[in-house]
Amino acid sequence: MAPRVTTCPSCGTKNRVPVAAKGTPRCASCKAKLPWVVEATDGGLEAALGTGQLVLVDLWAPWCAPCRQVAPVLERLAARYAGRVKVVKVNVDHNPRTAARYDARSIPTLVLVRRGRTLKRIVGAQPEPVLTREVEQALAS
Ligand SMILES: [Zn+2]
Repeated sequence: MAPRVTTCPSCGTKNRVPVAAKGTPRCASCKAKLPWVVEATDGGLEAALGTGQLVLVDLWAPWCAPCRQVAPVLERLAARYAGRVKVVKVNVDHNPRTAARYDARSIPTLVLVRRGRTLKRIVGAQPEPVLTREVEQALAS
């Protein structure tokens, strides 16, 4: 799994964000907390979930138009809740074990997870205010 390059919202520095890490990824230049969006596979899921942050698992596929609609919303949530929410994207076409684990019969399916425990499943491309409210509720729980 290749690290993803994320532009720091504070200073514009390009940073490599790891799929799994202890703590929160920070900008190498200004130390701001970075939006944490990663792509995980069946084999790397446990490591990707291994964070104290709330995890939003995005079960998606490239051919799924509603998944493409929700993708920029998830990017914005990751930026707004940098240091608090990690987005873990899993392509269900290539990762059937993760799709089965979260019962992703229709996509997008979004799953809010903390320390491996499922808090909430959200099926279908919900509007940004709905997803924001779900994230807020999960952060408060
Ligand atoms: Zn920065």
